Amino acid sequence: MEKENFRFCRKCLTRDMISKDQYFKTLQELIENIPEEIKTPSDLYEKRLRICTECERLTDGMCAACGCYVELRAAKEGNGCPYHLW
Ligand code: SF4
Repeated sequence: MEKENFRFCRKCLTRDMISKDQYFKTLQELIENIPEEIKTPSDLYEKRLRICTECERLTDGMCAACGCYVELRAAKEGNGCPYHLW
């Protein structure tokens, strides 16, 4: 699907919306568009993701403890790991 044809739906579940590939592309776009004032500095972001990739709770990019996609959760500086690992 071309970007210009993609629309956000505030009432849809992800399973009803788009392909998994498109969903993850959209997730990356969300991360890229986080305002700089609340965005995690890149070195801290990578440190957080390294911790997640070594964590037993990470499954398919999602944290089993909180249900978040960790790349998105880690991208906002004010967020934290529910187990206080970062
Ligand atoms: S956010 Fe915390 S608990 Fe969840 S996968 Fe990352 S390190 Fe593990």
